[in-house]
Amino acid sequence: MKQFTYVKPASEAVAIAAIGKPGAKIIAGGTNLVDLMKKGVMAPDRLIDINALPLKEISVVKSTLHIGALALNSVVSENASVMQLQPLLAMALKAGASPQLRNMATVGGNMMQRTRCPYFYDTTMPCNKRAPGTGCGAIGGYNRMHAIFGTSPKCIAVHPSDMCVALAALDATVVIAGKTGQRRIPFTEFHRLPGETPQLDNKLATDEMILSVEIPENNFAKNSYYLKVRDRQSYAFALVSVAAALDIQNGVIQNARLAMGGVAHKPWRLFDAEKALAGKPATEDSFKAAALIAMQGAKGYGHNSFKLKLAPASIVEALKHAAGLV
Ligand code: SF4
Repeated sequence: MKQFTYVKPASEAVAIAAIGKPGAKIIAGGTNLVDLMKKGVMAPDRLIDINALPLKEISVVKSTLHIGALALNSVVSENASVMQLQPLLAMALKAGASPQLRNMATVGGNMMQRTRCPYFYDTTMPCNKRAPGTGCGAIGGYNRMHAIFGTSPKCIAVHPSDMCVALAALDATVVIAGKTGQRRIPFTEFHRLPGETPQLDNKLATDEMILSVEIPENNFAKNSYYLKVRDRQSYAFALVSVAAALDIQNGVIQNARLAMGGVAHKPWRLFDAEKALAGKPATEDSFKAAALIAMQGAKGYGHNSFKLKLAPASIVEALKHAAGLV
């Protein structure tokens, strides 16, 4: 592993000054970054350990849930306010990784984790995300875990998070700090599609850090479900996952939220399917019609083409669970 320097700032201002320096990288739980450094995929000159900053708080202010960037995945998943107000988020967190990893991984780090595409981790293989311009090993290679939506000729990787799928569905906002102050962006706009620049996973600038995420009040607590389809029941990334949330009154869907994981370079929000569900009865037929709409534009790359059937079936299954039909 390349040698690096290590600092642990005691204040946000000192941390922001430090992360703006060339070759600097933030570390919190380190559950992904340390692996990447050991494999030589990432080689920062300096690590800025932000664990001394006061960013662990989980609070409810005027019905909005605020979660600090350093709150641990395990703590958030067991928090009483999260389970009561946003059970979809708790479900998604509990589906992620293993208990040991959830005890180390932070909310901000979960958002910043890199793809698990095997070509990205193998420094002997071409990969436009790790080494721009070298090609994509997965296109024409082994791509069973890869994307079916929003791909580009440069990259077909997926974002690996479960938590982020729930946050995309729940209209969360990301609060970011940088040298010029704070800014806020909708969660659905935080992560990027690969396009011509697959080396960029998200819209965080190199001199910025995540402070928190906020989730507004909603009427989805009673009818939410996170479905994760994977090769084994624990400690596996999603082949396909679905975050489904419904507001149902007298059997009619007033409002729906749907997002998928394991299918795109970012958590994949299904806006058109949500619109199609509004005003419809909460029945399997409505869910099947929405799933058809959700799959428009999907494209398989060979090994992952099974997702073209698995994804709509998963959408219907998640919605049935959310509606209490199973
Ligand atoms: Fe690299 Fe993306 Fe291709 Fe994987 S899919 S090899 S991450 S460019």
